[in-house]
Amino acid sequence: MVTFDSPELKKLVEHDNQILSKGKIDWEAKILPIANKIAECEKHLTVPDVALKLYSEEHPEFSIDKHKADFEERLVRAKTELTQLIASISDKEANDRIEALANEIKNWEKQEGQFSWKDVALSILELPERIIFDYDRCPDCGHSRIRIYFHSPKWTWAMMCGKAGEMAICPSCKTQSGLFGIITSA
Ligand SMILES: [Zn+2]
Repeated sequence: MVTFDSPELKKLVEHDNQILSKGKIDWEAKILPIANKIAECEKHLTVPDVALKLYSEEHPEFSIDKHKADFEERLVRAKTELTQLIASISDKEANDRIEALANEIKNWEKQEGQFSWKDVALSILELPERIIFDYDRCPDCGHSRIRIYFHSPKWTWAMMCGKAGEMAICPSCKTQSGLFGIITSA
C-alpha cells in the first residue's frame, strides 16, 4: 500500500515538480514505453527456432507461426507509434505554443471548486497530443477556449483519488469546465 510518506510517492511528486519547473513537454515519459515495447518484440523475435520447436513440443497449443506473426505485428505498431512521436517532437511551433500555455497557467491562482492550475499545466505537458486550441467559444465572454485532457498527478492515482476527463479552459475568465464528466479512480 502506498502511503503519503512512501519513497515511491515522493519520487512521483518530485518528477512532476521537475517537469513543471522546466515547463517542457515530458517526451522522455512517452519515448520510454515505446522503446521498451520495441525491445520486447525484438527479444521475442530473435528466439531461435530450435528453442521455439522445443517449447511447442511441450505446449501443443503453441503455434510458432502465430507467435512470430503476433510479435511482428506488435513491432510494426510500436515502430509506427515511434515515428508519430518523432514527428510530434519535431513540430517546434506546436510545442512552443503548448509549453507557453502551460507556463502561463501554472501560476494562476486556483478558484473555489477548481483543480490546481499546476495540475492542469502538468496535464498539458504530459498529454500535449490531447490539446485542441480554438475548441469553442466561452459561454461567458466569447473568448476562444482550449480543450485539454485533464489527468491529476500520478500520486493521486496511487492514493486512489485520481481524477481525469476532457476539460475546456477559458484563458480570459480563467475557468475550467468538465466536458463529458470527470473520471475518478475511486
Ligand atoms: Zn471566458
